[in-house]
Amino acid sequence: MQPRDLSTHSEYVPGRGVEEVARDLGLDPDEVIKLSSNENPHGASPQAVQAIRDNAEKISVYPKASHTDLTERLAAQWGVADEQVWLSPGADGSIDYLSRAMLEPDDDVLAPEPGFAYYGMSARYHHGDVNNYALSKADDFAQTAETVLESYGGERIVYVTSPHNPTGSAMPVDEVRKLAAATAEETLVVVDEAYGEFAEVDSAVSLVEERDDVAVLRTFSKAYGLAGLRVGYCLVPEDWADAYARINTPFAASELACRAAHAALDDDDHVATSVETARWAREYIREELDAPTFASEGNFVLAEVGDAEAFSEAAQQEGVIIRDCSSFGLPACVRISTGTREGTKAAVDTLNDVLAALELGVHAQ
Ligand SMILES: *Cc1c(COP(=O)(O)O)cnc(C)c1O
Repeated sequence: MQPRDLSTHSEYVPGRGVEEVARDLGLDPDEVIKLSSNENPHGASPQAVQAIRDNAEKISVYPKASHTDLTERLAAQWGVADEQVWLSPGADGSIDYLSRAMLEPDDDVLAPEPGFAYYGMSARYHHGDVNNYALSKADDFAQTAETVLESYGGERIVYVTSPHNPTGSAMPVDEVRKLAAATAEETLVVVDEAYGEFAEVDSAVSLVEERDDVAVLRTFSKAYGLAGLRVGYCLVPEDWADAYARINTPFAASELACRAAHAALDDDDHVATSVETARWAREYIREELDAPTFASEGNFVLAEVGDAEAFSEAAQQEGVIIRDCSSFGLPACVRISTGTREGTKAAVDTLNDVLAALELGVHAQ
């Protein structure tokens, strides 16, 4: 037998891990720095790690109280009702929940290009399809309502990534409001704020209260350093928040994920340090890297290096793993995640050496 026709579905190819790369190069894993997945260079909050240790014995029962407690904690933080918080396995899980709640077969979603691949993948799993709107390099990837509306054709869901991966640009809340007002009544505008903590612009959560057609995605994978646990959520309008009970995979987030996320929320110092370091590092990269870069509200910087594949390959040989953005539709660009202060400085030195060497190579030919 065969699965259903998946030929139009794209594969998600995760970046390579430190151990894998170190083994290939014959290096000590400690000599390799991974700046390719926007992970937190400070690791997880020590309080989250402690919560996992303290609750390890509880994994034989389904998560009930821990799920309720985390939901209540998040609802209080954002000033929304408990039902408006949809916990999920990563924010990616929330994208699936919104697909399940919104899409009838053949409904389309509209997503940014360049952009995050999972919006389209999830739409296709749910028998829909994806159309794209273009963010343009010539325009520094500026995000306005107009940029999106130029390509809008009545799609059921419109995705906005703010701060945007991989470019770092943000859409101001006023523009999101304009966009939601200009789209059809049955179009949901989803603002993906996976990098929201690092941004110096306001969250679109106020619109979740103000309107019935805006939802916001958030995750514990980035600023909270819990990428390996898989826990995120979306905040949805009160009017239809009860749909969660009909569409979620039972016990959406695991016992330990809920406990650790709760502890991480209470560790103000860890988040503050993580955000401060990322803001410092993104400016450092922009100032010190010998290549054109774009302003970033996230924990990464997009840089234009010519041949992204050759550059990231050469950087990896030197022990710095960065993200070749060819798969995002930007074959001349790489995305460099922010590291610790020490790690960022060392990585920029190495990347500048690689840039110089590649340029020499080109001139020598
Ligand atoms: C990292 C990321 C997410 C969420 O990742 P999870 O680990 O599933 O929470 C969502 N959107 C974008 C644009 C991201 O970069």
